[in-house]
Amino acid sequence: MSAEILVLNAGSSSLKVSLFAAAPEPQLLFRSNVDGLGPAASHHDALVQVVSQLTQQRSAWQPTVIGHRIVHGGTRFQAPVLIDPSVRDYLASIVPLAPLHQPGGLAGIDAAARAFPGVRQVACFDTAFHATRTFAHDAYALPREFYEAGVRRYGFHGLSYASIVTTLRRIAPERAEGRLIVCHLGNGASLCAIHQGRCIETTMGFTALDGLPMGTRCGQIDPGVLLYLLSQRGMTVNELSDLLYKRSGLAGLSGIGSDMRDLLNSATTQAKEALEHFLHRTTLHIGMLAAALGGVETLIFTAGIGEHSATIRGELCRRASWLGVSLDEQANERGERVISTDRSKTVAMVVPTQEEAMIAKLASEVAGIKG
Ligand code: AMP
Repeated sequence: MSAEILVLNAGSSSLKVSLFAAAPEPQLLFRSNVDGLGPAASHHDALVQVVSQLTQQRSAWQPTVIGHRIVHGGTRFQAPVLIDPSVRDYLASIVPLAPLHQPGGLAGIDAAARAFPGVRQVACFDTAFHATRTFAHDAYALPREFYEAGVRRYGFHGLSYASIVTTLRRIAPERAEGRLIVCHLGNGASLCAIHQGRCIETTMGFTALDGLPMGTRCGQIDPGVLLYLLSQRGMTVNELSDLLYKRSGLAGLSGIGSDMRDLLNSATTQAKEALEHFLHRTTLHIGMLAAALGGVETLIFTAGIGEHSATIRGELCRRASWLGVSLDEQANERGERVISTDRSKTVAMVVPTQEEAMIAKLASEVAGIKG
């Protein structure tokens, strides 16, 4: 039997499990998603449940290697790594950098170690893709000691961006090495400027709050607003965190919710204003990344909104006409791979993100598995 890679993508209250055959590119064999985890049901219980589904068909089954999506690699990890006790300790030590997201990843590692003792585990980081940037790009203009202590613009969604580069190298190799702006527009949303397959700039920073307004997150905000909320409105740190992560963004502006489909279907003024804000802010950030690249040859849409909403893609392409994007309305409506016209100077594309296949590929490379 060929090598099999189990991929765990653990959120704070969910666990996505997928199984891939290694050869020659990862092939999806199985996928399961367990939601609603918390005090009553742990990540370990969820994994045991999924593994029992998997082993019903095959006795004494176990994966060759296990790959994990880990949100934060801190300042130490800039590439995927085999997990040993010292790696796990480091990942636990940086929970304060990503208190909402890192604990889920650690729970996934512990659950996998209990379910499959002795099987190698690989941590794949959402921050790693952006680690090639220089000090000028990842610093905040704070006293230097804060940079040394890890207060940096890390950037996230890196596994998604790496997967887009990998796919592009396969389907459009002549474009893959050029100047790209990738729009990862899902519940969380960010943009990444890429040249020669490497990150040049991205819109998220120290946390996944920065940059674009998202489903429930605020995006870029003047830090003075936070000082005002703390000092003048008497908000506690927990209240502020809840506001910025869960009650802001499209949900906060529209009063309807975070789902783009609901906003697009709504006739209320608030929904229209929330949409216009999202389009405006995203357009500004596309301009910023185009400046970082000194021009752009390919504009790519991915993730839930980017892959499925012709309306949002169309609006963003029209607003990017100054960059040389000429939209092909029909191709966009049909969701074709290329949605710009033949004469478009900048090519607009829809490329599905494949974060889990990327984790499988990275884990098999780190574990030295040949397909
Ligand atoms: P993701 O986080 O990548 O799974 O994206 C989830 C988001 O994609 C949802 O919250 C929706 O807002 C959005 N989405 C999914 N399908 C569509 C669609 N057909 N049109 C607009 N938005 C969509």
